[in-house]
Amino acid sequence: MTKKIIIIGSGFSSISAATYLADKGYNVTILEKNKSFGGRARKFKAQGFTFDMGPSWYWMPDVFEKYFNDFNKKVNDYYTLKKLDPAYRVYFGENDFIEIGDNLEKISQTFEEHEKGSSKKLMNFMAEAKKNYSIAMEKVVYKPGESILELITLGTIRRLRYFATNIKSEVAKYFKNNKLKQILEFPVLFLGAKPENTPAFYNIMNHADFGLGTWFPEKGGMHRVVQSMIELATEKGVKFKSDHQVDEILVENKKVTGVVANGNTFLCDIIISGADYNHTEKLIPNHLKNYSDSYWDKKTFAPSSLLFYIGLDKKIEKMSHHNLFFDVDFNKHASEIYDNPKWPESPMFYLNFPSLTDQSMAPEGQENCFILIPIAPDLKDEENIRDKYLEVILKRIEEVAGEKISDYIVYKKSFCVKDFISEYNSYKGNAYGLANTLFQTSIFKPKIKSKKIKGLYFTGQLTVPGPGVPPSLISGKIVSSIVIKDFPNQ
Ligand SMILES: Cc1cc2nc3c(=O)[nH]c(=O)nc-3n(C[C@H](O)[C@H](O)[C@H](O)COP(=O)(O)OP(=O)(O)OC[C@H]3O[C@@H](n4cnc5c(N)ncnc54)[C@H](O)[C@@H]3O)c2cc1C
Repeated sequence: MTKKIIIIGSGFSSISAATYLADKGYNVTILEKNKSFGGRARKFKAQGFTFDMGPSWYWMPDVFEKYFNDFNKKVNDYYTLKKLDPAYRVYFGENDFIEIGDNLEKISQTFEEHEKGSSKKLMNFMAEAKKNYSIAMEKVVYKPGESILELITLGTIRRLRYFATNIKSEVAKYFKNNKLKQILEFPVLFLGAKPENTPAFYNIMNHADFGLGTWFPEKGGMHRVVQSMIELATEKGVKFKSDHQVDEILVENKKVTGVVANGNTFLCDIIISGADYNHTEKLIPNHLKNYSDSYWDKKTFAPSSLLFYIGLDKKIEKMSHHNLFFDVDFNKHASEIYDNPKWPESPMFYLNFPSLTDQSMAPEGQENCFILIPIAPDLKDEENIRDKYLEVILKRIEEVAGEKISDYIVYKKSFCVKDFISEYNSYKGNAYGLANTLFQTSIFKPKIKSKKIKGLYFTGQLTVPGPGVPPSLISGKIVSSIVIKDFPNQ
């Protein structure tokens, strides 16, 4: 008999798991609470602008290629990628910025201009990062995090020192210039923790950044990837149902039997939840949960974010596709996220203009603008606070980059803690899951398989390997292989 699988949510991890399982003949249905699919990577349209709601950095193209290759397809069968040059620009003050080029040679020249002798050091640093990346991809990240033995390989043992130190100290061993150090610490911010709390092994992110480059999915941006994966999954037989919030997971004799969504019962043999872990456990009886409330409370969550989607009635002339504003005290803002959670006095932020690369994302002559300010989860989120930050940020953009913005706004929408909770059932309004600190890596991550309920599994950014789009694709593959082993489809 074909096994019936219900997958909760339609984020990258859920669609990935669904594709692998449907490919092996399982009967898979995705139930998504929202009107549209893609989870944190949904898109919306307004006044001729198309906004990617979450991710905008396409890193680690090898992981996407591997996903499509697993089904004898190629990325190019679905979308084309453009390598961005410059990859991004980092502002440190008024008209004071560094641009990161599209290859290591260009980047090392830029480094040399800021610190004599640093180009050679960069090559050495990057050679180590590349070795770690290969080990991570071949030996670590596709593992389910079930046993410490998974991590013990010749490659990892030889590179043990990278788990005993952190990325901040590692970078400081090579470089003195503060701007260069900040640029090399930036990629691990994607993993949700401070550089001093992130193992140096995660210099794999530096290889992802400088080594593999920053790409853009043409004709549609990041949501183009979601659409492509839905197309492939549908081809394999996956059924997608939007507007279906799962309110209960049905359990009999410690075995799943189905879910209740919109008052209807959907019977099944297996459930995989790609929704936030803590929320999923609220759908089952208390005594059958994997983790208590205090477990979650002690965890280091990745930040939440204050986001703005803005339409501008002008073309941007002085900035890049991706812009980072590091013109304030990085340590102070990080401390306001992790150590002493509060609204930041003077925030770092990220500014993205996808329509500089893809005019289809904004009306002719106009620009699509996305702003992200990382903040601590669970902060008091009120309209007047959001407005105040927008005003401050726009002023900074105008002063630091010399580009007039405020007078050209024709569309504006914000998204913050309250929306992460109401739209995604996110724990404390976190934006991208659990941080990859040492003790929240691999075997220390919340488990993929329920310890108490047969047939219940978890996937996504709160499980292995962690936050980000590529890890979510990998997480879907990992959970599907466990399901295939536990419930062979005969
Ligand atoms: C603002 C922002 C910027 C980011 N930038 C980047 C980036 O540039 N590059 C990158 O690689 N990553 C980035 N990330 C991280 C990346 O987007 C996420 O790690 C990834 O999309 C998470 O996918 P997921 O499958 O784990 O879960 P999600 O995308 O969160 O999907 C979970 C889904 O479950 C649904 N759901 C919840 N409860 C229920 C229920 N009861 N019933 C039915 N459905 C339910 C939700 O609606 C949601 O659709 C960013 C994230 C955010 C928020």
